[in-house]
Amino acid sequence: MHLDEYSDANPRIYDYSEGIRNINPNLLFCIIGLAGEAGEIADFIKKIARNRDGTMTDDDRRKLLLELGDVLWYVDSAARELDSSLTEVARMNMQKLSERKARGTIRSFERDEG
Ligand SMILES: [Mg+2]
Repeated sequence: MHLDEYSDANPRIYDYSEGIRNINPNLLFCIIGLAGEAGEIADFIKKIARNRDGTMTDDDRRKLLLELGDVLWYVDSAARELDSSLTEVARMNMQKLSERKARGTIRSFERDEG
């Protein structure tokens, strides 16, 4: 298959420009930043798995915690753009997890102390 065949068969993207324009630009910035930070974490973990058989150093742990902080910053900022807070996000998440646990769709979200 030639790549042009793929491209010709690929439906063109719908014009979302009006929808994009209607989104709060600061919220959009936060969501893009959040995805970027999550990608950084995923790539970092991938490299630990690929290059060092998953062996994590204290420095790796520190870097991961710093990246999680970056994620937290974007989550907090996005919540504020939605006139909410980290507290409300956490409360809503706990509620969702409790409901899933009650339905049996997750076994437990309690930490294994073993
Ligand atoms: Mg970062």
